[in-house]
Formats: sequence, C-alpha cells, structure tokens
Amino acid sequence: MKKVELLDTTLRDGAQSEGISFSVRDKLAVVETLDGIGIQLVEAGNPGSNPKDLEFFQEVRHLRLKHARLAAFGATRRPGVAVADDPQVRSLVAAGMPVLVIFGKSWDFHVTEVLKTTLDENVRMVRDTLTYARARAERVVYDAEHFYDGFRANPEYALATLDAAVEAGADVLCLCDTNGGRFPEEVAAATKVVRERFGSRAAIGVHAHNDSGLAVANALAAVHAGATHVQGTLIGFGERCGNANLSTIMANLQLKAGYSCIPAAKMTGLTAAARRVAEIANIVLADDMPYVGTKAFTHKAGMHMDGVCKCSESFEHVPPESVGNARRFLISEIAGRSAVLTRIQRIAPAVQKTDKVVDEVVARLKALEQQGYQFEGADGSFELLVRKALGTHQPFFTLDHYQIIGERPAKNDLEGAAAIVKVSVEGRTEITAAEGDGPVNALDRSLRKALERFYPALAEVRLTDYKVRVLDGNRATEAKVRVLIESTDGRAVWTTVGVSTDIIEASWFALVDSIEYKLSRDLAKRH
Ligand SMILES: [Zn+2]
Repeated sequence: MKKVELLDTTLRDGAQSEGISFSVRDKLAVVETLDGIGIQLVEAGNPGSNPKDLEFFQEVRHLRLKHARLAAFGATRRPGVAVADDPQVRSLVAAGMPVLVIFGKSWDFHVTEVLKTTLDENVRMVRDTLTYARARAERVVYDAEHFYDGFRANPEYALATLDAAVEAGADVLCLCDTNGGRFPEEVAAATKVVRERFGSRAAIGVHAHNDSGLAVANALAAVHAGATHVQGTLIGFGERCGNANLSTIMANLQLKAGYSCIPAAKMTGLTAAARRVAEIANIVLADDMPYVGTKAFTHKAGMHMDGVCKCSESFEHVPPESVGNARRFLISEIAGRSAVLTRIQRIAPAVQKTDKVVDEVVARLKALEQQGYQFEGADGSFELLVRKALGTHQPFFTLDHYQIIGERPAKNDLEGAAAIVKVSVEGRTEITAAEGDGPVNALDRSLRKALERFYPALAEVRLTDYKVRVLDGNRATEAKVRVLIESTDGRAVWTTVGVSTDIIEASWFALVDSIEYKLSRDLAKRH
C-alpha cells in the first residue's frame, strides 16, 4: 500500500469558515478526535494572529497523542525585514510545535499587486523564512499559496519559488488551489511537473478548496499524479465553500485506490469522528455527506432494500460498517428496531428482540423525535428513556416551580440573572435561590443547590458545554429549540437533551435529565 499523509486544518482553515467559532476546550476536543482516528498532522492554528490560539498552544502540549503531530501555521517574513526581526515568524517558532507550516506566494500577480513587492524579494522571503524555520523545527511544510493559478499564469516563476523552498530545506511542497477554481486535469498536470522536478528532494502535497465543487476530485487528481501529502478538513468546512473533505478523501483512497492514510482498524471510527467534530463545531453534519452522513446508506425504494438484503453491493458502493456507518431502511421498522435493541442491550443485556420493552422504546423515540428530540448526541437522555421503559427508574425529585429573575444591565459577570427553585424529595421540600452569568447558569446552580442537601454527590457535577439549535418551524412563532447539555462529574461525561418552544424550559428539561442520569448511574453502580 502506498502511504498518503493527511494534514487536518479544521482548527485553522476550518475555523475561518463563517459561523464556526471554537473555544480552547473545543479545539482540544477536535485534536483528540483527529488523533483518535489516526490523522498524522493536525494544524493547530496561527500563534501570531490570535491570542486565543496562544492559550491553546500552551494547553495542547499536555495532551497525550498517539498518532497526531501538531503543526503551527504562519506566513513568510514581511518584505524588507530580516527574518529574525519579524514578530510573526518569531511567534510562529515560539509556539514550540514540532512541525511548522509556512505559506508563501507563488503567483507573480499576487506578489506585485497584493504583497506590493518585487518578484526577487518574494523568492528571498521564501528562502529566508524556510531556512530560519528549518533550523528550529523537526519538519517544515511549505504551503505554496495560489500555486495552481500561479503555475497557469507564469510557470517559471511559480517553480522558482518552489526552488527556493526546497533549497532552504522544505520537507513537503504543498501545492494550493487557494481560490478553488482549477480543474482536476490542470491540477494533475501541474502536480506531475512539480513531482518530476522536486520529487526526489521533497514530498509533494495538495491543498484544495471547494469553490468549484471539485476539492475532493482535485486532491485525488494530485495524489494520482504523485502527491503523498493531502491537506483538508475532516468534514470539509473551511473558508467560503470549504476545504477538501478528508473523510471522503481517506475513504476513497484507502477503501478503493490502494493507498493507506490511517491505520486500517481506525476506518470503522470514521463516521463517529465526523459526527463528533460536527457536534463540537455546533453544526449539522450534512446528512448526504459521502460515507459518514446519515443518508449515506439509507434506502427508501423497495427494490433497493430487497437488493441490499440479498447482496449489499447491489446498491452500496462500500459496506456501511467499513466506515462505521449504518444502513437504514426508511419504511421498514426492522432496521430501526435492531439498532435500538443494540443500544438497549448496552444498558440491560438480558433484553431480547421480542421483548415488549423494545416496542415501547421504539414508540417513545418516534414520538419524541417527532417533537424535535434527537438522541444520537444525547446518550444520557437515551439511557434514562430506556430505564423508564424498563421500569427501573424512579424520579429522584419533583419540581414544585422555578422562576427566573433577570437583572439588566448585569452588574458583573456572575450576577446577570438569578433563579429560584422549589423541589421536593420524599415529602421534604427545599427552596433555594442562586445567581449565575445567565438564566440557565442560575437555574443550574439553584437546582443543584436545592438537591445537594439530599444528594451530596451532585457537588461534583458541572456543565461543560451548552448548545442550542433552533429547529425549523413552519411559522417563526412555532420554532422550537433543542438544547444539548454536556456534564461531567470528573470521571464520566454525559449529554442530555431538552426541546421546547421556550429556551429556558428546554434547558430545564436537559438539566433535569443530567441530574437524574448522574443519580441513577451512581445508584446502579451501588447495586
Ligand atoms: Zn486554504
């Protein structure tokens, strides 16, 4: 198997996508997910451009990674400045990452019209910066920005910039279709020229954008022309129309084209990793995304269902389980039932397919999904639902009422809102008030304060994430919100869900599930 190295830039190019914003914690979770699936290089960001990245670079060092090496991203030095005096280059090196990705100009028009410097000075900028970086990092990737456009306009100059990068010791020459405008045959032809000229001295890479809907096709064309390094983002989001989708590329190369991108055993984790990154980014994973979307192996036509039952390759290009996805039959209940059974058996191993409880859970799931619930990302709420159907769940408290008192303007961060909660536990009532940096935070504090007297273990619980998604309503007034809350007690992490037309009420449902889940799990462990 020929090896292809993947560099994921979800945290850099991906973060430049409209609507994407990662906290430091989110970024660490993305790195862990990418490492978990066996991606070799993770571009962590640009330490010179963003103070939030600086904090992340300090934190990410403490992660114990099995596969991924971290890369910092930056530009060549500015025109007319000594490389050692350029603050951007210095902070790039100071991030202390083992791999540096440095981008420079390869299109003459960009050099003279955008950078406003001479063609010779740009070549010196590439040579100086890479020489400086090469002495200070284990490995240097040179991103030749606009390479394919530059090669089309002035091939001699585009290649001269690569000459400088190779002479300065670049380990990878990554050719970029920065504007996403080129066709696969152009990419293949230019990549072949570069491989013939530099292939013995550096690895050749490709960085494609999807503005023409061709990012994956262009990346594959480059690989077939000799590229062995592919940059992209795991689920394809990135500037404008996105980056090359690595989940599609790696499945295509590894399952069909005789290349090895990640360890073979990791391929079955692809779908879970894609969904995890979408969840962290708080976006909906396109259900028709190749290989990993929920519709990727869904069959509706009776003839297709009949076909795949007899022989899966009749209507499926690869087996869904090869990428950790699942086949779905839309009008048949059978597939849904067995998927639910598998999940029930994780909680109650003795349950059999014909047991009544399976019907009850399926019916309950259907009714809740109709209301806007989704349990794929809410393991805690799903487990509670199953325990309720099994009759093994007793509510730990009942709510009398809650009330939110907003204070505007907020006096400081911790006093934006207050909540009063009245609950009862086995006939004893408790009423408490607490402040928080918002109504949900106040509600969470107040509820836990009320219950801690009865259940001291709740003191360990804290919310680690809170996500809201507005669900499509037919009319604006009917729009519902789905709230996902992630909680931890320091050992386990669980997610719960609530849906309502009122955001506070949706949050309340998710909070109650979170607490009930924690208490019921502790109880189950004791028995
Ligand atoms: Zn890019």
